[in-house]
Amino acid sequence: MAFNGIAITTSLVISGLMRKFCWTCHRPAAACFCGQVLEFESSAGFALIVHPHEVRSTVGTAWIMRRSISNIKWFRSKGIGLDEDPEFLSLLGAPDAVPLLLFPGPQAFNLSHGRTEEWQSLVPAGRRPLFFVVDGTWTEARAMLRKSRLLSALPRVSFETPRLSEYGFKKQPHPGCLSSVEGVHLVIELLAQRGWGTLPALREHDRMIGIFRNMVRHQLQQVVTTFWSCR
Ligand SMILES: [Zn+2]
Repeated sequence: MAFNGIAITTSLVISGLMRKFCWTCHRPAAACFCGQVLEFESSAGFALIVHPHEVRSTVGTAWIMRRSISNIKWFRSKGIGLDEDPEFLSLLGAPDAVPLLLFPGPQAFNLSHGRTEEWQSLVPAGRRPLFFVVDGTWTEARAMLRKSRLLSALPRVSFETPRLSEYGFKKQPHPGCLSSVEGVHLVIELLAQRGWGTLPALREHDRMIGIFRNMVRHQLQQVVTTFWSCR
C-alpha cells in the first residue's frame, strides 16, 4: 500500500510539474513567451542544428527562433549521424538554395564588409542563402562541426559587429560573439542593409530580441532571488 501511495504521490507531483511547463515554447509557465511571438517567414533560409543540451535548456534561444520563424528547419543533433540524415541531405541538395555555415573562420565571407561581387558568386541570382546555425556552447559547436564532415565543409559566413551580446548570464569568448538568436537577427538585418534580402514587413524579427531580453531579465531575477533566499 505504501508503494501505491508513493506511486500516486509521484504521479501527482509529475502531473503538477507538467501543468506548470509550456511544451510549446519549452519554458516554465512563469516564463512562457507564446503570447509574445510574432511569427514571420524569413526570405533567407535558416536551419538550426541544436545540441540536445540546448533543446532541453529553458534559457536557450533555439526555441525562440523555432517559434518565431515559420520556415525554419530544426535538427536535434550533436553532429553524429547528421551526414546520413535524409532531411539534412535533401536540404543540402535543394536546387533553389545555397547552403552556408554561419560560423567564424579565417576564410568566412564577412556579411558586414564583404564585397558584393563575392556574395553574388557565392549566392547566384535566383537562389537564396540557407544559413546553417550550430546552436550550443562554443565548445559544443566546435565538437559538432568536427563530427559532421558535410556541415564543416560548407562555405562559411560570419559578421563583425560592435554589438555586445545581451546574454547576461552566459559568457561569450569575445566581444562581437553573439547568442544564436542575436546572430540570426543581425544576419536578417545585414542582408537587408546590403540589398541581399528583405526584412519581414512589420519587423517581426525584432520581437525575437524582445523575447530574448525578457528571458534574460527573468533569468537574472531568478538568480538574484535564489541568491537572497540562500543567505
Ligand atoms: Zn509557451
